[in-house]
Amino acid sequence: MKSKKLETTGIQALLSERTIIIVLLALLAFFWSIQLIDTLAALLIFGTIAGLLVRLEFKRHRMSLRMRIAETKKLEFNKRGGIKSVRANTLNAVPLPILIIGEDHRISFANHSALDLLGSDIVGNDVYIYLRQSKIVDAIEKVFEDGKKHAGVVRYTNKQKRSFDVTVARVSGTGGEDVPTQAMAFFYEITSMLQTEQMRVDFVANASHELRTPLSSLIGFIETLQGPAKDDVPARDRFLGIMQSEAERMVRLIDDLLSLSKIEMSRHQAPDTQVNVETMVQSVALTAQSAGKERGIDFKVKIAKGATRVIADPDQLMQVLLNLAVNAAKYADRDSTVHISADLVKNKKHVQLSIQDEGPGISNEHLARLTERFYRVDNARSRKMGGTGLGLAIVKHILLRHDSVLDVTSKVGSGTTFSFKLLRA
Ligand code: ADP
Repeated sequence: MKSKKLETTGIQALLSERTIIIVLLALLAFFWSIQLIDTLAALLIFGTIAGLLVRLEFKRHRMSLRMRIAETKKLEFNKRGGIKSVRANTLNAVPLPILIIGEDHRISFANHSALDLLGSDIVGNDVYIYLRQSKIVDAIEKVFEDGKKHAGVVRYTNKQKRSFDVTVARVSGTGGEDVPTQAMAFFYEITSMLQTEQMRVDFVANASHELRTPLSSLIGFIETLQGPAKDDVPARDRFLGIMQSEAERMVRLIDDLLSLSKIEMSRHQAPDTQVNVETMVQSVALTAQSAGKERGIDFKVKIAKGATRVIADPDQLMQVLLNLAVNAAKYADRDSTVHISADLVKNKKHVQLSIQDEGPGISNEHLARLTERFYRVDNARSRKMGGTGLGLAIVKHILLRHDSVLDVTSKVGSGTTFSFKLLRA
């Protein structure tokens, strides 16, 4: 409407300008004919006026062209669905699945995320074919039959075990009474939240179980020493020895649990200290050598040129190297050699640290789960060695803080290599 008005005023303005010019020309011709002005002056004035006229014509042509383009654009926009398509684009930009469902239960609209979740051919089909779960069906019914504005939030889990909190709400049309009521289903994904919740529950259960075992054993021995073995001196000495090692196991477990929570607290603070890898690795090798002495494990250290300094948290790097080296001392074959090395990575920006043993190796099915809390390949062996099942989880979390990952390559019967990269200082 507005553009039409503008268009008319613009053209009217041009027309009146044109009329003035024509009147001026007529006057000029009249003055020339009665010889009020001479021919040369008349030609000069005529030329100027004619130039003005051409400019005006050109302006008029440009204006009508611009109007025609605007009109075509408007037609195209309406052809593509007009304002409706703008709404669809907005809903498509929402990264959560959204469905709009008609009273006949047919899906009238599905945004891109909903098409990805439920299938590309869902629009026009009955929603119950795709969302068979009774809670969602009830929620949609409530919106249509009971006239509820919101049918609350219902949980939906698909075959791929993705879980969503689905909100179903009534959408009334804004175009008068003829516009039908529709239901809108909005899917909020909670899969990773549920996984984290499950991990926390498992962790508490596992930690309690790990502590309960030595605690039950301690209580058992205390009762025996108070009762049947009260006056049995050799038995008392033996039991006290076992009680001590059980108590030490509990202390190790609590230390590891505290370590883990401390590491998680510093997770987002990037370390910035320069650490001398050479001295640290030598000292770790000495400690691990004494841990593996009884089993005849020998440690060999090799530090490449230019790989002597890294950026790390010194205490945490020490803990990583110790956990890996002591594991090698515990699990490597008797009388074998463990190699600890530091090499310069090709890009010269990183140093790669590796701990390689000649042990039983770890089969593929265990490799992916190795750094999970309390995961053990051989439960009995780990417990016999005094392991808490948290050593590699601690390593993983420390390396995460160092923007690095633990790489494990293993061949059953030949041995295992644990390696990781750190920023070179
Ligand atoms: P643990 O306290 O049981 O040693 P870790 O988290 O340090 O716990 O290690 C998890 C499991 O990985 C161990 O129980 C063991 O089965 C396996 N493992 C770790 N290091 C080695 C290794 N060098 N060789 C073979 N198995 C290993």
